[in-house]
Amino acid sequence: MKLQFLGTGSGMPSKQRNVSGLALVLPKVTWLIDCGEGTQHQMLYTKVKPRKVTAVWVTHLHGDHVFGLPGFLSTRSALDGTEPLTVYGPKGLKKWLEATLRVTGSHLGYELNVIEFTDGDTFEQDGHIITVRKLEHRFPSYGFRIQGPEKPGTLCVDRVRALGIPSGPIYKTIKEEERFEYEGKWYDSKEYVTEPTPGKVVAILGDTTPCENARILAEGADLLIHEATFMESEQPLARKYGHSTTREATTLAKASAVNQLIVTHISARYVGREEEFEQEVVSDFPSSIVATDFLEYTVGD
Ligand SMILES: [Zn+2]
Ligand SMILES: [Zn+2]
Repeated sequence: MKLQFLGTGSGMPSKQRNVSGLALVLPKVTWLIDCGEGTQHQMLYTKVKPRKVTAVWVTHLHGDHVFGLPGFLSTRSALDGTEPLTVYGPKGLKKWLEATLRVTGSHLGYELNVIEFTDGDTFEQDGHIITVRKLEHRFPSYGFRIQGPEKPGTLCVDRVRALGIPSGPIYKTIKEEERFEYEGKWYDSKEYVTEPTPGKVVAILGDTTPCENARILAEGADLLIHEATFMESEQPLARKYGHSTTREATTLAKASAVNQLIVTHISARYVGREEEFEQEVVSDFPSSIVATDFLEYTVGD
């Protein structure tokens, strides 16, 4: 899966960073994680296509994470998007979205489903398993653990040839069926196919202070996307506003043994101090990236 960062700032847009928006580009469809104001404008500078978006996952209802949603949904309709779209988010999302669309006379030319989740819910969407956990913020905020589909094993051609089986449609049967027959004899397919590879895991957290559920979501993930609104010296401010610091993000990355950390939701107060900010992150957890708008990152192949 490919991630395309559309907005990486906190609270309000700056010239350097728009408010929260992230696209997850899967082989056939695209998802959005949060849709702050201006997210659809940011998309214009990328290959992300509104019509391809089939799901939007909302971490929480703070304006910097959702004010772009009604505009995006309307544009998707204007661009002849006809596939159904599901928006997942916390309680209150449905009432707000329906009222906004109704009051503004916005009619969508596709089926819009709104699913309000709660702590511990699990969903299956486009072959992926998504687990939702509640985080700690000034407002109900959630994180997602997204498990990609298992990759099937490959055929051990040498072993199959050793049975005297020439290539043909039977190779497909061996890969797809538990057992196969050749010249009246039955074989167990798993002896002739490599082990399947587990799907990649991406943990994406909404705004949060450090908490146990964040650790559970991040555990062993291939990629953790974590907010770092403040640098370590502003830790009291982070606590006051229900956010995390650079070091709190890297501490979680280390404790959960993730392969890669990307920090985002960065306060505009650090404009001009990018190197110092990055240094504080990377020196504590070298496999870290400080997200910038339009950053692309691929997990797996
Ligand atoms: Zn925020
Ligand atoms: Zn927030």
